[in-house]
Amino acid sequence: MATTAVRVALRVRPLNSKEQAANYQECITFATDEPQIFLGSDRAFTFDNVFKPDSTQQDVYNKTVVPLVDRFIEGNNVTILAYGQTGSGKTYSMGTGIDIDQEDGQGVVQRFAHQLFDALEKSNTKSGNGGANEDSFQVYVSFLELYHEDLNDLLEPHRDTAESHPSIREALDGSIYWAGVREERVYNAQELLGLLQQGATFRATGSTDVNAASSRSHAVFSVLLKQQLAEDNNSNEINNNNAPSIDKLPIMKRIASKFHFVDLAGSERLKRTMGDRQKEGISINTGLLALGNVISALGDEARKGSHVPYRDSKLTRLLQDSLGGNSHTLMLACVSPADADYMKTLNTLKYAGRAR
Ligand code: ADP
Ligand code: MG
Repeated sequence: MATTAVRVALRVRPLNSKEQAANYQECITFATDEPQIFLGSDRAFTFDNVFKPDSTQQDVYNKTVVPLVDRFIEGNNVTILAYGQTGSGKTYSMGTGIDIDQEDGQGVVQRFAHQLFDALEKSNTKSGNGGANEDSFQVYVSFLELYHEDLNDLLEPHRDTAESHPSIREALDGSIYWAGVREERVYNAQELLGLLQQGATFRATGSTDVNAASSRSHAVFSVLLKQQLAEDNNSNEINNNNAPSIDKLPIMKRIASKFHFVDLAGSERLKRTMGDRQKEGISINTGLLALGNVISALGDEARKGSHVPYRDSKLTRLLQDSLGGNSHTLMLACVSPADADYMKTLNTLKYAGRAR
């Protein structure tokens, strides 16, 4: 299945009980046979997918993430970015919070963990390894928080001296690597989710105001997959008896791919900048501003091959080799349906609309 490099999905959460009690009205309506929404009576926005308030976590996952997991296993990098104002459903949708629990509520990362290990174990069995050669694939996770311009390792909570912070480095060939980041190997979905939970708990408890911290910082949960795959080797089949021959040993190809789950800072806390940005009514912090510019440059076919401004923020530097190139990016834009949030929702719709 062909996927375009950048896809944008919009999710509209239900009105919560507080909003209902305050008698807020919904200000978003939905087109019937297109992924299009209307804000108020005069503004229309179209996305690759639109999820209404009654959409389930399973709906969102199946329609947006399932095909990306296949691309990931084939060796491509994937990035999912949850964008939106605080309280719009980013953490709920992504599953990067501390209260991940029952089946229905499971977010993207929980479902991903199960799909990934199911698929890897199946192909491991098919290729005759049957678990005996567990090294045909290796999965590692890391979990970073980007707060202001500081990187914190959520899997290394006690390491907080200045010189031990993770950093972004550039190799001689211009590729980006992360230095000083803990990468922990995991053998199954439970272990992967255990580390997610550990990092999310640290993120929440390491700050005096949980909501303030998560609304100001970006959380980047990453899964690194290393695989040794047998390459087609038919040309080497030179003997016809069944005895194993050195010529029949498969040539092993090593591939590595990364899947980033990014729970972005709340899009509301931003300074207005000058010029075009202000004209568009978009106000964002440096990371979100730079991210929007990178995604927009990538998504714009006409500008292919033109400059993509990765260097403008730490967030875009961090994700540089997973945005563009052969990578797949999904922006999951989250909004509240409440009329009281009209302006914030409008800003999110404009930002996400620019990414397409
Ligand atoms: P954000 O991370 O964008 O600040 P959250 O994901 O924490 O927002 O969501 C805010 C609240 O709304 C949470 O209590 C969450 O459980 C709830 N919520 C968000 N989206 C949905 C949804 N689609 N269905 C039900 N509850 C939701
Ligand atoms: Mg959140």
